[in-house]
Amino acid sequence: MTDYSIHDPEIGSLKNLAIVSTGGTIEMLSDGGGLDIYDSHNPLPIQGNVVPSSVNVEHIRFCSLPSPAITPEIMARLILKLEEVALSGRYHGIVVTHGTDTLEESAFLADIYLRSTVPVVFTAAMRSPSEMGVDGPGNIRGALLTASKHEVHELGVTVVLNDEIHSASRVTKTYTSNVSSFKSPGYGPLGFVDQDRIMLHRKPILRIQLPECKLKLDQRVGLVRTAAGLGAREIRYCIDCGDRALVVEALGRGNVPPDVADAIQYAVEKGTIVCITSRCYIGRVLGVYNYPGGGADLEKRGAILAGDMQGHKLRLLLMASLGIGLNIKNIRELLERF
Ligand code: ASP
Repeated sequence: MTDYSIHDPEIGSLKNLAIVSTGGTIEMLSDGGGLDIYDSHNPLPIQGNVVPSSVNVEHIRFCSLPSPAITPEIMARLILKLEEVALSGRYHGIVVTHGTDTLEESAFLADIYLRSTVPVVFTAAMRSPSEMGVDGPGNIRGALLTASKHEVHELGVTVVLNDEIHSASRVTKTYTSNVSSFKSPGYGPLGFVDQDRIMLHRKPILRIQLPECKLKLDQRVGLVRTAAGLGAREIRYCIDCGDRALVVEALGRGNVPPDVADAIQYAVEKGTIVCITSRCYIGRVLGVYNYPGGGADLEKRGAILAGDMQGHKLRLLLMASLGIGLNIKNIRELLERF
């Protein structure tokens, strides 16, 4: 059994927390030409009353990237770093700062891999200090308070912005610019930050976790979104490029145009694992329709219906599953509960 317990005594009654920073708007300023990371004069906002008096913070700079530049490989390295930090036994909790664009992907990958018994909390900023209504300092404070509450580790990896605590498995960026962008559609937050108090209301029952392993990703996983009359060409392209697995964001309950169903069959016949999600942002896919391209038809053609997983998160789950050597039967079992 992995030992994640704290070996160092608390510093007085202080909680010792690590902030692992990766970049994003929270580290950006405008030089007049637009926002960017200017390392030398733009540190993470952890001065003044941002750090609660109950907390001692150590800052670990992992990288300083806008989050569209964070690739799955960088995510995997970040998560192995988080594991190392958790295992060091020096911290009661870990806060990760990240750009908002791909935050939900890094947090999800961390959630399916880490078995940390110290809280791991992601946070970010929708607005930089160069803009009115900067939210980074308050979000870091909320994340620090959340990470210092031990029970939070039982929720899996969490995401804290705008005083809401969300599960990494459900949270998504819903709004391009608003500070209340991060939501868990259909589920809602697990709790709230209220001034200095953390109010926990719910605990997720469903949590997908990889079997205990060393995280490794297989890059050969595609993601294709369907639309009216669109998807077949894109699927065939992914297969011809050598993808071993493919996520298809289908329509509605998990249905696709007839020629997309034929392309899915082509993929399955080539040995590709094809998983179906929906482009709807709430609800499960299910084999309800039997017409050519309906969910039931796709199942008969060998595709796996993947519950209510979001396509971009499912892609990472498949990359990790293949990377650690799981086969189609294992992947079906993992997805069955969703
Ligand atoms: N484009 C920025 C990023 O993801 C947005 C942000 O951090 O809010 O790095």
